[in-house]
Amino acid sequence: MKVKKIPMRMCVGCGEMKEKRDLVRVIKTPDDEILLDPTGKKSGRGAYLCRSMECFENAQKGRKLERAFSCKVDAAVYEELKNELQREMAKLADNMP
Ligand SMILES: [Zn+2]
Repeated sequence: MKVKKIPMRMCVGCGEMKEKRDLVRVIKTPDDEILLDPTGKKSGRGAYLCRSMECFENAQKGRKLERAFSCKVDAAVYEELKNELQREMAKLADNMP
């Protein structure tokens, strides 16, 4: 029997390795825009976060996205990402049985 390898990624907030599907992807587009990529299908350089405000805040405090993307990330960008992440989390909660 072949065991399927589960793709693992590291959350930039808590530094833990998790299954890719349990994380949300943040990307830097070729136009230097930083966006949440809930589908994981956009192209660009990616960083991963748990769907957790705690991890998000850790990432923000520790300037982890700056490090992941080697560029400046404005507070406004973090705010936008935070809103998007909250929307994602709400969506997920709606889908719970
Ligand atoms: Zn995390």
